[in-house]
Amino acid sequence: MPLYEYVCKKCQRKFSEVLSIREHDTKKVECPQCKGTELEKVIEPFYAKTASKTGGW
Ligand SMILES: [Zn+2]
Repeated sequence: MPLYEYVCKKCQRKFSEVLSIREHDTKKVECPQCKGTELEKVIEPFYAKTASKTGGW
């Protein structure tokens, strides 16, 4: 199942949730710290770690 990362807009806590596509559409994700539901979804640039070249620079 895909992993979604969120940042809480209230307390700035970053956390991740493993949700199915259906859960992601229907489930209300809340902050584990303050129970806030105003969340910013974090999109991780997954290509960043493999972008370095060997012998470059
Ligand atoms: Zn929070």
